[in-house]
Amino acid sequence: MKEEKIVYQGNKIIPKSILHEAKVALSYYPELKGVEIEFKYKESIKKSFMQAQPKIANLFKGKNDRSYNIFMSSRFLIEKEEFSMADVPSEVLIGWLGHELGHVMDYRDKSAMGLVIFGFRYITSENYIKQAERAADTYAVNAGMSEYILATKDFILNNSHLSDTYKERIARLYLSPEEILVLVNKLEEEQL
Ligand SMILES: [Zn+2]
Repeated sequence: MKEEKIVYQGNKIIPKSILHEAKVALSYYPELKGVEIEFKYKESIKKSFMQAQPKIANLFKGKNDRSYNIFMSSRFLIEKEEFSMADVPSEVLIGWLGHELGHVMDYRDKSAMGLVIFGFRYITSENYIKQAERAADTYAVNAGMSEYILATKDFILNNSHLSDTYKERIARLYLSPEEILVLVNKLEEEQL
């Protein structure tokens, strides 16, 4: 599939099909304005729909010169059910992208060596995956994206087309809708 790509903010590369959703998600992260991020489709991603990663080529250039990939699965195959981007409602996609941008926020604070260790632990330890996924959700909620994040959770957890194995994995590793509401309440209290 050859798709037109749009350059946005001078440093974001975004496939045209998700341009609106990516712009909305990015609008919650003014801190990422100067950060190079490329959103791209990939044939398939193990166990997930999207994945944020620092680009290896400039990983060691220093925190401010790093750039990131957000890979998106063009087909989403979970057990036997196949999804495509077109099946995902806009707000769900915005929540999903917001979560991935939360990973980028988390990566920005880490040193290159820290990121290498992070990558290794992410592969080898489920406990570490849990920490990383919760950090990404927390960044998104703190950025003001709770409604989108909740829409994404609802789409996954209450979707009869998705396998129980996948849903259990998401429930185990990510913030639950209840935990998100607790975070939102805490944020609102802080703003009073
Ligand atoms: Zn994630």
